[in-house]
Amino acid sequence: MAKPTGFLEYARQNPPQRSIPERIHDFIEIDKCLDPDQLEIQAARCMDCGVPTCHAYGCPLGNLIPDFNDLVYKKKWRAALELLHKTNNFPEITGRICPALCETACTLYINQEPVTIRQIELQIVERGWEQGWISPWPATFKTGKKAAIIGSGPAGLAAAQQLARQGHKVTLFEKSDRIGGILRYGIPDYKLAKRVIDRRLEQMLAEGVIFQPHVEVGKDIPAPEFCKDFDAVLLTTGASVARELEVPGRELSGTCLAMDFLTQQNKVNAGDEISPSERISAQDKHVVVVGGGDTGSDCIGTSIRQGARHVTQIELLPKPLEGQNPDTPWPMWPVILRTSTSHQEGCDRLWSIATKQITGVRGKVKTLQAVKLDWTRQDDGRWTFKEIPGSKFELKADLVLLAMGFVHAEHGSLVEDLKLEKDQRGNIKVNENFMTSTSGVFVAGDAETGPSLAVRAIHRGRLAAGHLDAFLSKGR
Ligand SMILES: Cc1cc2nc3c(=O)[nH]c(=O)nc-3n(C[C@H](O)[C@H](O)[C@H](O)COP(=O)(O)OP(=O)(O)OC[C@H]3O[C@@H](n4cnc5c(N)ncnc54)[C@H](O)[C@@H]3O)c2cc1C
Ligand code: SF4
Repeated sequence: MAKPTGFLEYARQNPPQRSIPERIHDFIEIDKCLDPDQLEIQAARCMDCGVPTCHAYGCPLGNLIPDFNDLVYKKKWRAALELLHKTNNFPEITGRICPALCETACTLYINQEPVTIRQIELQIVERGWEQGWISPWPATFKTGKKAAIIGSGPAGLAAAQQLARQGHKVTLFEKSDRIGGILRYGIPDYKLAKRVIDRRLEQMLAEGVIFQPHVEVGKDIPAPEFCKDFDAVLLTTGASVARELEVPGRELSGTCLAMDFLTQQNKVNAGDEISPSERISAQDKHVVVVGGGDTGSDCIGTSIRQGARHVTQIELLPKPLEGQNPDTPWPMWPVILRTSTSHQEGCDRLWSIATKQITGVRGKVKTLQAVKLDWTRQDDGRWTFKEIPGSKFELKADLVLLAMGFVHAEHGSLVEDLKLEKDQRGNIKVNENFMTSTSGVFVAGDAETGPSLAVRAIHRGRLAAGHLDAFLSKGR
């Protein structure tokens, strides 16, 4: 245990952030690090619980949280890094963008602020990079087996690293021009700088992973033919089918999907040129973001940095409770009102709103017409809504960004040609070994779970890699 009285002596200290007036002019990361001695004190708050709910319930990866807290408190940073890498291939990713399910599951969170677990994770791994403790870890022998991974998000990357370290020849295919999935194209640079991904890719290259961007498997190469070249194939193609807004005016210019908007900004930050006719910009515009979740929040921060005149975010569901929600008691992930760094930068937030129509002038969006909803909870616990009579209103809109989430995995030629079964929600069905209805074809990440989190994708990628390795090892 770090320090038996630590949680009584020290208050939680959050990492510093760049000030709002400074950060809204660029896409540089917002969060900074604590001084190492301050972080060691934060680690001292860990009580080394008999049942560490942070590890056993909260963290999908099962990170060995109390153990690395103890090591950090004792200044054994390198040993903490080794422990962290035992369960997580990319702590620098989860340390930046994970919502920290471990922290809301921390025992301290029952009646005080939890241990700052995510920050401890981040600073352990960042110190590892700084000190040169993180180096390639190539396999000591080669199996001669060839594995293909399709899709280079966190699930595909984690699986690729695990399989390469098992000695398999791993090729990772990606239809985009750069590797990284939503980490690269989707998540704004101010949350996750892309050099963080590149640094890990260099390590993976040195471990023997072959990256093949610009290849859409199923389109550029017919899937059955592609599979013949490999001993096993893992699909980590994500759940990119966006929920649509089916209202009149959706087709107007200036109404677009959040991912198109966010991806374009990631590309601009990477130095790509976007032609003026294709550029989706919020500059000097009244922006309405439809969808109150994290993707919507990313649209707000990006719009503000592009120089939007005003941003409004609307959400169909009612405003969540503040502080605590009896429906999601500890250690569950609390469904409560959350205010992101983007919200703090300035926007209006409206809840219980349904969009009725988008109107425009000469083909360009001008307003979003909406109505207020009255939500009521039925005796069986279900929520239903009614439109409030006479509550119609309109919002001025030069840009409408649709961020209503994602429904399921793509059902394109890759899935069709390989005759992969789908589950009831439209994701790709796998058995307990992550294998699909087609032998030798595995799936991991959002493509099989539906839209989720980077930490879960890494976890599922690691698990699938274990089963794929066992499959390849048969008869070896
Ligand atoms: C805007 C946004 C912000 C988010 N923010 C967070 C966050 O802050 N924290 C968090 O934990 N999670 C966040 N998420 C969720 C998280 O990014 C995903 O859960 C995670 O990336 C899923 O990983 P994956 O590897 O399964 O798939 P993805 O990251 O979706 O990667 C799939 C990849 O497969 C490629 N692909 C698809 N089909 C083919 C094909 N036929 N051939 C070749 N390549 C193909 C795609 O181009 C894509 O690059 C966010 C999601 C979005 C959309
Ligand atoms: S639940 Fe919190 S206090 Fe308990 S071991 Fe985990 S981090 Fe430490």
